[in-house]
Amino acid sequence: MEYIILIVVLAVLIVGIGGTMLLRPGRGRLGRGRGGGDVGQGTGTGTIERGTTTDGGTQAGGSASGATTTTVPPPAPPASPAPSAPSAPPKPVIEKPPPSAGRMVRLRARLARSQSGFGSALLNLLSRDRLDDDTWDEIEEVLITADVGVTPARQIVEDLKTRVKVEGTQTPDEVREMLRTELLAQVDTGASRALRTQRHEGRPAVILVVGVNGTGKTTTCGKLARSLIGDGDSVLLGAADTFRAAAADQLQTWGERVGAEVVRSDTEGADPASVAFEAVSKGIEAEVDVVLIDTAGRLHTKTGLMDELGKVKRVVEKRTAVDEVLLVLDATTGQNGLRQARVFAEVVDVSGIVLTKLDGTAKGGIVIAVQRELGVPVKLVGLGEGPDDLAPFEPATFVDAILGD
Ligand code: GDP
Repeated sequence: MEYIILIVVLAVLIVGIGGTMLLRPGRGRLGRGRGGGDVGQGTGTGTIERGTTTDGGTQAGGSASGATTTTVPPPAPPASPAPSAPSAPPKPVIEKPPPSAGRMVRLRARLARSQSGFGSALLNLLSRDRLDDDTWDEIEEVLITADVGVTPARQIVEDLKTRVKVEGTQTPDEVREMLRTELLAQVDTGASRALRTQRHEGRPAVILVVGVNGTGKTTTCGKLARSLIGDGDSVLLGAADTFRAAAADQLQTWGERVGAEVVRSDTEGADPASVAFEAVSKGIEAEVDVVLIDTAGRLHTKTGLMDELGKVKRVVEKRTAVDEVLLVLDATTGQNGLRQARVFAEVVDVSGIVLTKLDGTAKGGIVIAVQRELGVPVKLVGLGEGPDDLAPFEPATFVDAILGD
């Protein structure tokens, strides 16, 4: 009997334990169910998070690799507390510059403001009832004062005299048209003002920017990079002005704003030619459209300058051809600027002139003088300190601005 009681107790115990065991998986399933729900929710959240992350990643990737990205939104906040978040530097906002077409027309008011003295003085003199020798002398003087140069000024006066003799008295409109034609004949030399910025033989176009420090060389590099990017080109900047520490920083800031890579040396006084070489090599590797190289403009001695710029050019040409050598000239420096231009033209084959600070002078005649002096066209003009104040030079717009049209 005792045995039977023992067996019954044992049996009850076994059934009890078995029940408990059976119950566990049930809770387990429920748990997994909830767990599944959790996972489901987790997956859902994960999908959203991943979606967000993916989106953020795509945007970040786009900004890092593509200079064409308009604006990079601030990176998406991390889903979990990320200790690295505070140390991550904010991504720079990449700007989308406007295209260069029509800029000179847009900036014409600045030209008109600075040129009106010169143009209206000529119109007033030419509108006198009697055009005697004194008046013609005055006209010549106005032209020379506006930096047109002695020879072109005389030529303009002679041509005008002939026309007045042949055509007789003229209405103010006719006088204006006559002067416009004469000035345009001097400004528009017929040379192409197009910048060679096309890739060729699978390599980028290379532009060297030269000129005396202070003329606006580095600013022009930055503005030109912006303008090329605005026109759809990809650009790499080379900071080969290694003698002015601030120049590389300046260029880097310009590059960061438009998503252009900048090759620079952190050592002041480093060999400009090696920076230029490195920039062109990187540009070839990255398959950019244009490599823009800012150079040092120390006019210490002509031989020194020749050695420096000559070496930069030779070294670059080991990788690819130099397509443009742009000489930056400050329009406000008149004859002094022309002297500098002459020295540079003797040292390198200048293919185009960038006339800066044309917004700050009433002596726009320098356009005529410098083209004549160097036999090279003005290709770009600087009309202010703003980032988009560099314009392709258009002779007719310029002459109309001089005449206050
Ligand atoms: P760099 O030494 O030749 O490289 O000269 P920077 O590029 O540093 O420019 C010298 C100064 O000229 C800066 O203050 C520029 O903002 C200014 N500058 C450059 N281009 C123009 C322009 O077209 N108009 C005006 N008003 N200032 C300009």
